[in-house]
Amino acid sequence: MKALSTTVVMLLLAIVVFGCAPTSTSAVEPNAQNSSSVVTTEKGKQVEKFIKAHIKKVEPMEKAANLAYWDAAISGKPEDYNRVGKLTLEIRQVYSNPQEFAFLKEAKESGQVKDQMLARQLELLVNAYLENQMEPELLKAIVDLGTEIERKFSTFRGSIEGKKVTDNEIKEILKTEIDSHKREQAWLASKQVGGVVASDLVQLVKLRNQAARKLGFDNYHTLSLTLAEQDVKELDKIFNELYELTNKPFAELKAELDQILAAKYGVATVELMPWHYHDPFFQETPMVYQLDLDAYYKDKDVKQVAAKFYAGTGLPVDSILEKSDLYEREGKNPHGFCTDIDRRGDVRVLCNIKNNEYWMETMLHELGHAVYDKNHNLQMPFLLREPAHIFTTEAIAMFFGRLSRNPAWMQQMLGLSDQQRMEIEKVSAKYAQLKQIIFARWDMVMYDFEKQLYANPDQDLNSLWWQMVEKYQLVKKPPARNEPDWAAKIHFTIAPCYYHNYMLGELLASQLHHHIVNNVLKLGSDKDISYVGQKKVGEFLTKKVFEPGAMYHWNEMIEQATGEQLTPKYFVSQFVKTQD
Ligand SMILES: [Zn+2]
Repeated sequence: MKALSTTVVMLLLAIVVFGCAPTSTSAVEPNAQNSSSVVTTEKGKQVEKFIKAHIKKVEPMEKAANLAYWDAAISGKPEDYNRVGKLTLEIRQVYSNPQEFAFLKEAKESGQVKDQMLARQLELLVNAYLENQMEPELLKAIVDLGTEIERKFSTFRGSIEGKKVTDNEIKEILKTEIDSHKREQAWLASKQVGGVVASDLVQLVKLRNQAARKLGFDNYHTLSLTLAEQDVKELDKIFNELYELTNKPFAELKAELDQILAAKYGVATVELMPWHYHDPFFQETPMVYQLDLDAYYKDKDVKQVAAKFYAGTGLPVDSILEKSDLYEREGKNPHGFCTDIDRRGDVRVLCNIKNNEYWMETMLHELGHAVYDKNHNLQMPFLLREPAHIFTTEAIAMFFGRLSRNPAWMQQMLGLSDQQRMEIEKVSAKYAQLKQIIFARWDMVMYDFEKQLYANPDQDLNSLWWQMVEKYQLVKKPPARNEPDWAAKIHFTIAPCYYHNYMLGELLASQLHHHIVNNVLKLGSDKDISYVGQKKVGEFLTKKVFEPGAMYHWNEMIEQATGEQLTPKYFVSQFVKTQD
């Protein structure tokens, strides 16, 4: 959810930015441009002075924009959203200044800024400016085309035998219908939007590539990863390892699942087609091991349970909840998100709580983001009082969010009997395993396809997509299918080169889980772990993850916290078990 809301913010940023010729309200000293001969301390001093002036300028701007976004999310009023647009545009204008960018880039490349904290701020600033150096006209073309595709996505309705259907109707058919022909029709309807947007989307990819090349990168995928301090080789290594480690167990689980599905639809397993899974992309767990946990939550107060749990781990959330907006209201954003208003402790969560499992997970998740933001070290400079990466804050949110289905946690927090706990245990482990492994294999499709899409948008993308689906998800291409099924996934349009972060978040959540169980709590096994009342969890996360903020590159932070760089092996040991 945080990721989605971040996407919304990124979109807002993207939407409002065009047409802004870089202004020259430069805070750069007159001599800063050609100072490669200046001694280390001199360069350091220049950068220090620049950053001081920069923060003085942007800190109030960012606070105002965050408050405006909060107001808009609560009120839903167009004028509040317009205010967000105006304020974010002003921030973008600061970062689009080419003289300031040139100064920072030169300072970084000179290698003369030796102070670690200063050098780190410089590195982050260079990326923030680089992102905003696209040519205004090209940027406008990108934003316009992206908006146009998004409009098509939101207005297009697929049809079944000439009758228009909504996305929800398609989803419902895929979840419940047992007639294969009707399922096929619904699946085909879900892909029709692909044909409507595909040629625009290829054009958008080419425009993004053009912009990236003007900034000196191979393509837009490389640029995006660089801006996010990620490296293709590094990600390839992680994804390849995850692929290898999940191959056999995924094949086994899927074979078992296929048998259940085939029996349900009265077909042979070899006849199973993409429409026999329960959503258009097979990214979710088909509801064959359905787990209904809502009954356990309906008489509880989700807000109180969350507050009590977090307090027990040494991460109190009362001051966060006081500022939060937690219940449904007309016009209010219906999802959940967390926002750090000022990097000085004003952290808020927006939710629409109902007392059920979904909102329990969401509250634990959003409060995970919140305790990360809340516990940054105020002694650190403003620019470093942020999570190390978007996926590291996602990992903390997932780490806590996963507990809403954990039988031991549920028993302790909800006061369940041993009998009730055993009922939950019977299906929850299997469900968690399926959910994680199905998502992992799907994320591989997205990561690999997107990488190749930007590397060569002129290739046969329809075939490429099905090669990926067959390789990673073991789902068969329907005979003779040659349609842009890939283009029906809206993320290629609205959140480019981002999807892999969901997986990295899951991997890190598991790595932290493993480290805390074995090295912080020294339990030797995660059997029956609930984290309830474990103050050491909060202590460890605060010291090793929250307080360092963005001081270190994400992989360095992870290594310092857990003794290892990011690895998929703990995700695999937690969720992926080969059957005996
Ligand atoms: Zn999140």
